[in-house]
Amino acid sequence: MMSGKGRIQGIFGPVVKGWTDFPVFLYEVVRVGERGLLGEVIRIDGDVSDIQVYEDTEGLRVGEDIRFTGELLSVDLGPGLLGNVFDGIGRPLELISGNGCFIQRGSDAPNLAPDRKWPFTPLVGVGDLLGPGDVIGEVKEGPAMTNLVMAPPGTVQSSVDFIAPQGDYPVSDILCTTQGGLRAGLSQRWQVRRARPVAARIDLSEPLVTGQRIIDTLFPVALGGAAVVPGGFGTGKTVTQQSLAKWCNADVIIYIGCGERGNEMTEVLEEFPTLTDPSTGEPLMDRMILIANTSNMPVAAREASIYLGMTFGEYFRDMGKNVAIMADSTSRWAEALREIGGRLEEMPGEEGYPAYLGSRLSQYYERAGRAKPLGKPERNGSITVINAVSPPGGDFSEPVTQSSLRLSGAFWALDKALAQQRHFPSINWKQSYSLYVDNLAPYFEQRLGPQWSRYCDQLRILLDREKELQTLVQIVGRDGLSEKDKWLLRFSELLKVVYLQQNAFDDRDAYFLPESQLRLLSVFFKVDRVVAEGLARGLLLAQIDELPLLRYLLDLRAAGDEVMEERGEALVAKLGMEISGLEVILQ
Ligand code: ADP
Repeated sequence: MMSGKGRIQGIFGPVVKGWTDFPVFLYEVVRVGERGLLGEVIRIDGDVSDIQVYEDTEGLRVGEDIRFTGELLSVDLGPGLLGNVFDGIGRPLELISGNGCFIQRGSDAPNLAPDRKWPFTPLVGVGDLLGPGDVIGEVKEGPAMTNLVMAPPGTVQSSVDFIAPQGDYPVSDILCTTQGGLRAGLSQRWQVRRARPVAARIDLSEPLVTGQRIIDTLFPVALGGAAVVPGGFGTGKTVTQQSLAKWCNADVIIYIGCGERGNEMTEVLEEFPTLTDPSTGEPLMDRMILIANTSNMPVAAREASIYLGMTFGEYFRDMGKNVAIMADSTSRWAEALREIGGRLEEMPGEEGYPAYLGSRLSQYYERAGRAKPLGKPERNGSITVINAVSPPGGDFSEPVTQSSLRLSGAFWALDKALAQQRHFPSINWKQSYSLYVDNLAPYFEQRLGPQWSRYCDQLRILLDREKELQTLVQIVGRDGLSEKDKWLLRFSELLKVVYLQQNAFDDRDAYFLPESQLRLLSVFFKVDRVVAEGLARGLLLAQIDELPLLRYLLDLRAAGDEVMEERGEALVAKLGMEISGLEVILQ
């Protein structure tokens, strides 16, 4: 492609106006000024282009050169991504403790370490046919991770004429060539704003199992689906995302710290490397990539960071892995868009956000999904998106929450009042929803039996009825309710405290397999039956409530997986005896 030099005509914070006497193209990558700051053309008007610069533009002068590279913003995909921290445009970050992140301006650091060698095992031989996405070999990345080396999407189908033997190689070595001109190594380059092609999209029929009771039972997200987590400060967005990163059944986690304050991101950067992967006992970072773009870093890079994370995700999806991408937060990302739009003097849309807020967001969300990647052998992979949103004043009707909501299938609304009561996760069961429930029902029923959907439905109906009764109580008072309805309120309270609340910091509680969720839920509904029988016999709820129901259920929850079934049966039997021992008081 053509490249050449232009000149800086004006500087407006992160946006630079450049003059050229040759044609440039949209999203062309440029190097601005003497330091060679990285930027991207975002608007062209004749011989003037507007460039968003990914680095601090302080000290830049009008008249300095702009080098047009003829390329689009791209990144190397290969071994060495996992366990690493990158800035919003994919450069590896040096971490300076307490100071957030640091990178030299104009840095050209490649995103994959050039010298490091990786153990490669070939899986094709000379003469084999190789086409787009076909697997060439395997590369081991850490003790628990084996990744695929694949022919890039544009590969022309032809036969292998060279394949390197098993051994340790750096990312730059050519390990496989074909008669069609392929020269493949461990890494491949890809444009971050361009979705990697797939052979076919497939139905979202399996859940991302989170181990969080309220999510898996009431508001599940599908593998390949998208969930939005809106919530004000202190409602538990970070803890929720961390719990999911730690426990969910994705193979690879990509965490994008997007415009959060430097010290918050530092916490994440310090915290994640200390976590252990519960399924392998290895560091959790072995299957994670962090992208850090804090509020003190240039806003333009924040805009690019979500597409970068998505590109990393697609690369692992193409290997047939399940990837979860967590971005915190979409609101800060949208603010970057607003700031750049403002510098370009664009006509603002709702609340000052540019009119293209929704379409830009959809360019990200659309790349999530479950798919059959290109190439042989056949494999399935997925990208699930879990995005935090921090709406100002907790107002969910604002544009960023609304745009996110339209693009995703699960909505986990974090509630300030619940958080203040220390009810965590503070997911409000009245406001939240999941559009995946029906699609996932066959999976859950096959795994757990038909009771699962029945109990989940029963729980939903109960929580709806409780809402109605709470309204009624405000009018007639609790004493005005029938004994049956009083029990429904009490039963809901027990469910909320024991089932819907889940303490991320208690080892016995932090993670519940769906099997354990079903066991605990089934005990609840058996208790409900036993109590209902007592009430039908004429007992008063006040009598039954003398029994330490809450303690019984909390003890059961803490009992652990292995004994929950047995203890649950014993609890129901004991309660049955205790209730049948109560005498009806004649009024
Ligand atoms: P946000 O990111 O929304 O500002 P945080 O995730 O930092 O909020 O959560 C604030 C506090 O709430 C945490 O420090 C923790 O004490 C509490 N918290 C949130 N979620 C949970 C949970 N699942 N279990 C226990 N405590 C929680």
